[in-house]
Amino acid sequence: MSSTKEQYATTYYKEPGPKLDKESPFESMMERFRFAAEILNLDEGMFQYLASPVKQVIVSIPVVMDDGRIEVFEGYRVIHDNVLGPSKGGIRYAPDVNLDEVKALASWMTWKCAVVNVPFGGAKGGVRVDPKKLSYSELERLTRRYTANLLEVFGPDRDIPAPDMNTNEQIMAWIMDTYSMNSLRTETAVVTGKPIILGGSQGRKEATGRGVVTVTLAALSKLGIMPNRANVAVQGFGNVGSVSAELMYEQGAKVVAVSDISGGYFNKKGLDIPEMISYMRNNSNTLEGYADAEKLTNEELLEIDCDVLIPAAKEDQISRHNAENIKAKIISEGANGPVTANADAILEKNGIMVIPDILANAGGVTVSYFEWVQDRQGYFWTEERVNRRLNRMMRTAFDNLYKVSEEYNITLRQAAYVYAINKVAATLKMRGIYA
Ligand code: GLU
Repeated sequence: MSSTKEQYATTYYKEPGPKLDKESPFESMMERFRFAAEILNLDEGMFQYLASPVKQVIVSIPVVMDDGRIEVFEGYRVIHDNVLGPSKGGIRYAPDVNLDEVKALASWMTWKCAVVNVPFGGAKGGVRVDPKKLSYSELERLTRRYTANLLEVFGPDRDIPAPDMNTNEQIMAWIMDTYSMNSLRTETAVVTGKPIILGGSQGRKEATGRGVVTVTLAALSKLGIMPNRANVAVQGFGNVGSVSAELMYEQGAKVVAVSDISGGYFNKKGLDIPEMISYMRNNSNTLEGYADAEKLTNEELLEIDCDVLIPAAKEDQISRHNAENIKAKIISEGANGPVTANADAILEKNGIMVIPDILANAGGVTVSYFEWVQDRQGYFWTEERVNRRLNRMMRTAFDNLYKVSEEYNITLRQAAYVYAINKVAATLKMRGIYA
C-alpha cells in the first residue's frame, strides 16, 4: 500500500503566490539531485523513481474555535520514499507552508536518513496555520484532527512524524494519544520527539545542536583550526542555534555573534552564551533587550568575519544576493536549506566549506531513530549512551562524506547527495519494483 504513487486531495489546494526573489526549495533540491545522479550515472528510470514522492496527501482540518466558529485549515503529509524503511520526518506549523515546500523537505529527509545510515525513508508534514494565533485548546483540536485524518498514513512501521518548525513535544504527545486511542493500545513508537515521560528519549531535544557541533568540530580539525581558536557566529537561537552556540562555547570557541527574531547580538571578545540562554529563558524566550553586546541585523550577522557560521534559523538565508559577502571558512547548516542552490557555486569558488543540512542537522533524526528503537524495546538508555552513539554516527557520516568528496573531487554537499542517492538506489535495485 505504502509504495503506491497516489495523490489524495480532500480539499482544494491553493497555490501560494510567487515567492519573490526566492528559489523554490524543491528546485534547489532537484538541482543537487540531478548533479549527483549524473556523477552516479543513474539510469533514467531510477532517476524518475527517486524524483517522485511515493505519496502526497492533502487534508482539510476543520476546527471548532473557542468562540464556536468553524475554521478550516489545510494540512499535508508527503512520503517521499520508503525504500530503506518506514518513512520519517517532522511536521511544521506555519502560515506559508505549501505542498512544494513539504515535498522538498520530504526528499531532504530521505537523503538525510541515508547519509547517517538510519534505516528510514523520508517524509514531511505541515499545516498551514499561524500557531501563535491559536489558543492552547484550539492547537490541540487542530493537531488531533490532523492526526485523525492521517491514521492510515502514520504508523510505527509505516510513517513516523516528529517535531519541526513551530511544533513541540506537547504536540507529539497529542499525536501519540490520538493514534493510540484509535488503535486501542498505547503506541509510543508512532511519533518521536515526545516528552520523556511518554516514551521520549534522553538527549532528543538537544540532539540536532549536538550533531551540528560534532560535524563542525570534525570540519575544523580538517582545516587545522583548534576549537578554542575558532570564532563562531550563530543565526537563530532556538532549539538548534542555542544548543550549538552553547556546546561550541563549552569547547572553548569564541561565539562572537548570535541572533533571534529580535535581531543579532555581537561582541568581538566573545558572548557569554550560558548567560544569554538564561536571559532568554527569563525574558519570554527572546533575546530582546540583551545589553552586553552590539546590535546587528540577522543579515549582517551572516557576513561577519568568523571561522564558523551556523545558520540555524530558516531556509534561503544565503542566496546569490549575499553569498559573495560571506567570510566564514565553514558554514554548518543547522537549519534545513539555509543556502540556496544558486549560492553553492559562489561559496565553492570562494573556498568555503559547507557542511550540508542533510548531514549537519541529522542529529535530530538520529536520536529520533534511537527513540523509536527504545520505544519498541521498552528499554530506555541513559543520556550518556544516547550522546555517545549520536557522536559516533555523526562522526562516521562526516568521514564517509569527506572520503566521497575527495574521491570525486566534489563539495561535501555534492558528496552527501552522491552517498545518499547511491545507497537508496542500490537498495531499490535489490528490492526491485513490485508489480
Ligand atoms: N524535523 C527534524 C528534521 O528536519 C527531525 C525529523 C525527525 O526526527 O524525524 O530533521
